[in-house]
Amino acid sequence: MKTKNKIFFLVITVIGFMFLLITADMIYNFRDYGLKSIDDKAHAIAKTVEHSLTSQMVSGVIDDRALFLSQLKNIPNIDNIWLSRGQKVIELYGEGLLSEHVKDSIDEEVLKTGKSKRVINENIFSQSTFRITIPYKATSRGKINCISCHSNAKEGDTLGAITIQMSVDDSKQAGIKTVANTIAIALVLTILIIFILNIIISPFLILFESIKKVMNKAQKGDYSYRITDMKTKESEDVAVWINNFLEKLEKTLISIDNKISTFLSKNYTKKQRDPLVNVKNTVERLIDVYNFRKAIEYDKTLGQIYSRLAQIIKEKTPIEDFNLFEANTINGKITLVHKEKSIFCNILKEGCRADRTNSIIDSTQFRNICPAYNSCNKKHNYYCIPYSISNELDLIVSIHTKDEEVSVENFIAYIKDYIDVAKTVIVSKKLLLMLEKNAQTDALTGLFNRKYLEDTIPKITAQTSRLEVQYGILMLDIDFFKVINDTYGHDVGDNALKIVAQTLKENIRESDIAIRYGGEEFMILLYNCDETYIKDIAEKIRINFSNTPIQTGEIRAIKKTLSIGISMYPKDSHSINEAIKFADLALYKAKNSGRNNVFRFNKSILNIQNKSK
Ligand code: GH3
Ligand code: MG
Ligand code: MG
Repeated sequence: MKTKNKIFFLVITVIGFMFLLITADMIYNFRDYGLKSIDDKAHAIAKTVEHSLTSQMVSGVIDDRALFLSQLKNIPNIDNIWLSRGQKVIELYGEGLLSEHVKDSIDEEVLKTGKSKRVINENIFSQSTFRITIPYKATSRGKINCISCHSNAKEGDTLGAITIQMSVDDSKQAGIKTVANTIAIALVLTILIIFILNIIISPFLILFESIKKVMNKAQKGDYSYRITDMKTKESEDVAVWINNFLEKLEKTLISIDNKISTFLSKNYTKKQRDPLVNVKNTVERLIDVYNFRKAIEYDKTLGQIYSRLAQIIKEKTPIEDFNLFEANTINGKITLVHKEKSIFCNILKEGCRADRTNSIIDSTQFRNICPAYNSCNKKHNYYCIPYSISNELDLIVSIHTKDEEVSVENFIAYIKDYIDVAKTVIVSKKLLLMLEKNAQTDALTGLFNRKYLEDTIPKITAQTSRLEVQYGILMLDIDFFKVINDTYGHDVGDNALKIVAQTLKENIRESDIAIRYGGEEFMILLYNCDETYIKDIAEKIRINFSNTPIQTGEIRAIKKTLSIGISMYPKDSHSINEAIKFADLALYKAKNSGRNNVFRFNKSILNIQNKSK
């Protein structure tokens, strides 16, 4: 129901109810007043009749009472009037006139009880009557003593009764007329009030209805509705204020959202109808991305950055199973940088299609699109998205989902926002790593250098005491190397050094460390090694190198040999530097023992050393 109708309905109800109450009160009062006046009139007539009859009795003309009584009936509004003779009078004076006989049970009752009785017969549409039967009682008081004539009666005895039947239509009609007039006035008044109300409040109600509609739409996010067609100046003003406000709000919100959205991927458009909600969502996304960026700036390693990115994917998207790979776009090398659950493709062996084609690989488009995927699980889909980090580096986000469970497309741009802000941090971390690696790597052989050894010694020391592992230390030196330089030139010498490095790499494990210690001197740290193992490796390297030809640029290639000194840390010394020195002493011993051999450090070398000092 419209507000206007509601108000009018309320006004009519209140006025109607008010008039109903007034009318009911009036009807009640009219009836009461009418009956009371009839009652008074009946009593007056009864008294008059009593006095007249008594007078007639005293003056001896009581026999003429029939005429008197018939004349009484001519009084206006009196329909009937009769007397009933009581038992005491009958006993003394006989039955009397026929009209004085008891007529009905009411007469009988009044004569018996001595109490007046009224019978009201009310009808709205037909005649209404009032009947009263009043007893006449014997009394010795007053001017005429009843008992003097009615000797058989005592004080208070009922001698007779008078019944008067009257019409009450006059007062009823007056009442009905008054009520009808009141209702007519009420109706006119109600119409007048509604008319005036309509003129006064209509414009405000129209304005209110319009505001209600416009605000209802705005609350649902549609700010395009406006208030129109206002009739008065006041409501027109209010309409203009609200319209201008909505216009400004809508334009400003859309403009803010457009401007701040430029910092985020456009493709991720879960735009709502409500620009306020859009602004809120965009700002929240920006804050999330900014917080992520701030957090990774202080991360120490690339691993921490990738873990944080993985955390974002897990928390902010429904994607649960995924891996992150770094792909070097220049040499094609792929490195796993985050494993969430399991690796579900042979990317490391077979390479990455997403990286190669620089496009999103989506198995929902083509089931076996990537040959590297382990296709045994047909219920899963995979998506591999290459995100460019720099000219040389892509980050591959490889996603694994259950059939149609997650629509990954919606989150590709969402993840991109985080990767975009991480780009510079990843690149600078990579650069730092490269600088650090360069500072620790020998440019000619690609082996670690002395700086790396110095940086690693604290780690090795800590590891040895914690895990109780033994390191084997090998010091290696090319025999008569100077001759190569002198005979074939420095380039051939350099090549020989590279061959030594290659021989070392080929004969050690991933956990071992090969270092170019200086000039043509090398060092190996064998992780978790025993006496037999170190000797075996040393021999293997010595023999392999001695069998490896070194090209000289001339027809004949040459072959060279190595002298190797070995020691064990911490078996030989609890100081790693001392253990290295012991290996160096052993090398010196190997040289002195004719070269091309392996010498195990022992304490006796120290005695000789001390003696020679
Ligand atoms: P020994 O059997 O006693 O070890 O004799 P050696 O000739 O190998 O030892 P020596 O210390 O006399 O000579 C080492 C030479 O290695 C001297 C130096 O010119 C040469 N050398 C050092 N670093 C390099 C390098 O980077 N490239 C080349 N080509 N030669 C180098
Ligand atoms: Mg040498
Ligand atoms: Mg040397």
